[in-house]
Amino acid sequence: MYATFLFFRVTMSSKSDKNSGNSDKELAVKAKSEFNKGNYGNCVQILEKLTADKSCDVKLAHNKAVAEFYKGGLKKTESFQKALKAIFEKAKLRPERLETLEDVDTCVLYYNYAVILYHLRQYRAALGIVSKISRYIEPLVEPAMVPSVELNNGRKMPLLGLGCWQAPGDEVAAAVEAALLAGYRHIDTAYNYLNEDGVGRGIKAAIASGKVKRSDIFVVTKLPNIGMQAGKDVFPFENGKLLMDFSTDLIAIWKEMERMVSLGLTKSIGVSNFTVKQVRKILANAKIPPAVQQVECHVYFQQTEMREMCKQHNIAFTSYSSLGSPGSKMFMEKMGMKVELPDLLNNPVVRLVAEKHNRTAAQVLLRFLVQQDIIVIPKSVKVERIKQNGDLFSFKLDEVDMGALRLLDQGEAGRIVRMKDLFPNSDMHPEAPH
Ligand code: NAP
Repeated sequence: MYATFLFFRVTMSSKSDKNSGNSDKELAVKAKSEFNKGNYGNCVQILEKLTADKSCDVKLAHNKAVAEFYKGGLKKTESFQKALKAIFEKAKLRPERLETLEDVDTCVLYYNYAVILYHLRQYRAALGIVSKISRYIEPLVEPAMVPSVELNNGRKMPLLGLGCWQAPGDEVAAAVEAALLAGYRHIDTAYNYLNEDGVGRGIKAAIASGKVKRSDIFVVTKLPNIGMQAGKDVFPFENGKLLMDFSTDLIAIWKEMERMVSLGLTKSIGVSNFTVKQVRKILANAKIPPAVQQVECHVYFQQTEMREMCKQHNIAFTSYSSLGSPGSKMFMEKMGMKVELPDLLNNPVVRLVAEKHNRTAAQVLLRFLVQQDIIVIPKSVKVERIKQNGDLFSFKLDEVDMGALRLLDQGEAGRIVRMKDLFPNSDMHPEAPH
């Protein structure tokens, strides 16, 4: 898949070759079209003509190698080896050059070579190359490759979003920009995260790049706990205890949210951390049913009952803390709590499945969910992780993997984020979710 895509891109970039005349361009287009049709033999023949020309540059030699490779049915054929050797000679690809690369086109060549090595099951060599060039190459996720779920109001919500909790302003701005450029089109934030301005800056920068359209971006935000009353503190505490308004009326708040829709201030409304009972209460009183429910969900806490109820009522389901929220340990320690969190990323079953597919543990945890139409919003402020976490739609887990991962479910005991631990005495509230 990647090799196919890159093949197009490299072919297209040959348009700017100093020495290519019109007929060369036509031949390149023809080669591309043959490649698209799967006529690799014809494609190789055309590329043969182009590469036979002494002035032809390394990109075409490379394309020829890719076509040879496919022609051989993804096998290491002799003609492929020859073609590969030709690019090596033309591009002077040498491992030591990897350290000083500044030319993006050459990086693309290396990347394509890594893809070929990957198909040849030379994973270590492929990974070595990708990790060295990754800071230069284009994002791995193509926007069109991120599927969406259709909400009950007919709108589309991308299955993959970027989580923004515990990402301060400048970090979140860079992360949001990187995520949008890497193909994410959904950002999950909240007033409580105190970083919505940073999210806005990231979105603005991505739009300014010309690669992202505002209309394609799906931003989720959430009412703050203090949303119903004036106050500066997001979490007002007194004597170590959360100050609460015990008169919360969920139906009245929902009606106000419905008004926001009618005023055109938001397109879709949903709930988060609601219990099954609370969702039913909203459904029984709503003109607009919730479009989405967002709750903690991961291999240890698979939320079977909640998901079933959402499915019954056509409510989309978003998982938060899908990776086990490793960062919340730091958050809790800052709040003076000592906690040991389960380490989902190092669970042996997860790691075995990851090894089997040559993917990361994080990708397996996320793929397990999206493969069940569960929307995921992994948080990261690290560009490499953002790209890697987003690369979920180019592989599939099989039934054996899915079955093994399903068995990790511990039900309620697997819950990691406990509001009453984060906010002492919050469980005293009559609407406390859990
Ligand atoms: P998460 O996405 O499960 O985990 C995020 C943590 O994992 C961060 O510390 C991140 O660190 C690290 N990480 C990310 N990718 C990784 C990788 N490939 N390998 C190893 N570590 C990786 O947890 P979360 O932040 O709790 O949940 C995700 C999002 O859900 C939140 O950001 C927020 O938007 C939302 N959420 C909503 C609620 C709610 O009440 N509605 C509650 C919790 C979360 P780096 O940043 O350093 O990469």
